Amino acid sequence: MADKGTCIITGASRGIGAATARMAAAAGHPVLLNYAGNHSAAEAVAAEIAASGGRALVHQADIAEEDAVTAMFDRAEAELGPITALVNNAGILTPSATFDQLDAARLSRLFAVNITGSFLCAREAVRRMPGPGAIVNVSSRAAVLGSPNEFIDYAASKGAIDSMTIGLSKELGPRGIRVNAVRPGLIETEIHASAGDAGRVARMVSGVPMARAGSAEEVAEAILWLLSDEARYVTGTFIDVSGGR
Ligand code: NAP
Repeated sequence: MADKGTCIITGASRGIGAATARMAAAAGHPVLLNYAGNHSAAEAVAAEIAASGGRALVHQADIAEEDAVTAMFDRAEAELGPITALVNNAGILTPSATFDQLDAARLSRLFAVNITGSFLCAREAVRRMPGPGAIVNVSSRAAVLGSPNEFIDYAASKGAIDSMTIGLSKELGPRGIRVNAVRPGLIETEIHASAGDAGRVARMVSGVPMARAGSAEEVAEAILWLLSDEARYVTGTFIDVSGGR
């Protein structure tokens, strides 16, 4: 398979990012698998990719840290070659809370990872990609639904990602770098348990028109299409992967 250029995938140790990394490697991208703390999970994904004949590099970095993001992109270029794709996937979900319960510490960490982290990774991609290339941001249906009584702050962090997607797609259009986003709905991953609500998917699934949760692979397939040449005239747009929710 021809080398399609390096693809950096943030949050690739688990969930949607791991599924995306496997598919991007199978599609011919050398992949940098970023993670925050779960080294063994990231190594396991990289080992699977290597066993299937792909190239994968594991790299720990908190995407909220500017120097760590820069170092990650340096290493990807040095060890895997020129970057042509970024999947801005890493994100955190906050525990359920009503608006009156929000505080500055919670908002600050959430926005640092979900907004600043995604902006810094996109900025590094912009600085280094000559074009053509593709950025896919992982937003959420929460950006549109607003997540009342659960996490309006998380929803708003994804609203920021949607605005960035629109603006950056216009800024980079002339360079042939496409910027799109997926908006997953209720997806079966560990993010819900991480936010202290392991039963969330089972509880919410009755509100999904298709009457089931989605899988990480179903989101990854949309991401891969947006990265691919088949989407070469698609920029500044959103694919909702949400079973109609
Ligand atoms: P997940 O299973 O909880 O995995 C999160 C990934 O992000 C892990 O690889 C984690 O690394 C990494 N990560 C977390 N904080 C990070 C940081 N500061 N720096 C670098 N990496 C960090 O999550 P997921 O469900 O796959 O979600 C992926 C994306 O989809 C997120 O942006 C999320 O908001 C969005 N989304 C998810 C759903 C859903 O229902 N699951 C719905 C809509 C949108 P470690 O393993 O090292 O902790």
